[in-house]
Amino acid sequence: MPIKLVTTAAELRSESARLLGAKRGSSQGLIPTMGALHSGHAALARTAVAQNDVVVATIFVNPLQFGDAVDLDRYPRTLEADMALLDAEGVDLVFAPSVDEMYPGGQPLVRVTSGSLGEKWEGASRPGHFDGALTVVAKLLHLGLPGGVAFDGSTPAYRAYFGQKDAQQLALVKRMVADLNFPVEVVPVPTVRSEDGLALSSRNRFLSDVERDAALVLSRALRLLEARANAHEPLDVESAVELVRSQPLVELDYFDVVDPLTLEPLAENCRETPFRGEGLAIIAAKVGPVRLIDNAPLDS
Ligand code: AMP
Repeated sequence: MPIKLVTTAAELRSESARLLGAKRGSSQGLIPTMGALHSGHAALARTAVAQNDVVVATIFVNPLQFGDAVDLDRYPRTLEADMALLDAEGVDLVFAPSVDEMYPGGQPLVRVTSGSLGEKWEGASRPGHFDGALTVVAKLLHLGLPGGVAFDGSTPAYRAYFGQKDAQQLALVKRMVADLNFPVEVVPVPTVRSEDGLALSSRNRFLSDVERDAALVLSRALRLLEARANAHEPLDVESAVELVRSQPLVELDYFDVVDPLTLEPLAENCRETPFRGEGLAIIAAKVGPVRLIDNAPLDS
């Protein structure tokens, strides 16, 4: 069946019910995106298609999570190419609502607050970003609920797919789903990178060749920490920070090793203690016009 595009909540629900019926399906996967899709998003789609009978992708550039109007205006919009990529991965349905459809009364009065977890790291540089992101994810998780019962009369399984690339967003979505009892299973998907290590991002297209080369220091520094963690050596984050700072085109914002759930810095980041256990190395930097984030799960 070719992929179908819907733009209203009512159509999304009825198409979901129709697809579950037509496929005698018992599960639905949801992939929230802002479009301008690349191989990272394709990996989310592939995982969702492998695990569910019906798969819905959403494409919505959410004004609530942009602090900067210029960033919102210049965010790439490539619906036709996005549809082709999702179709090739076997996604059934795309929900691409207008801003009016998502926020009919203008900006919502009641929102999800991301609390202290949303105020650190990315949240410190982008105040309000995670409240806006969680508010739209909450709405999309509700709108994307399976539209009917499974062929055997049971409630269909419902899963939502998020990239590990956006580690803080993933941690927050997991907390929201647990804290507020959303009836959905959150499925994390590993970060997809280009061959030279750069984490794929819709914003990479704004990097010049020289800036893109410079940006490779982020993944190189993460790999350094990964290698030390795997070898049970001290992480010595300071020396990895120095490596990033040696690249003049990269303006480092933060680089640390944190607990993957609470995002609190770990004590074992120092030069002396060998790394044991689990951590998440997180990094953010400005390169030319683009703010880049990346991370690496550490497991020793
Ligand atoms: P976006 O539309 O780029 O904000 O992201 C939509 C979803 O795709 C989010 O769950 C992201 O974490 C995920 N995503 C973005 N880039 C990548 C990547 N390079 N690898 C894996 N997932 C990604």
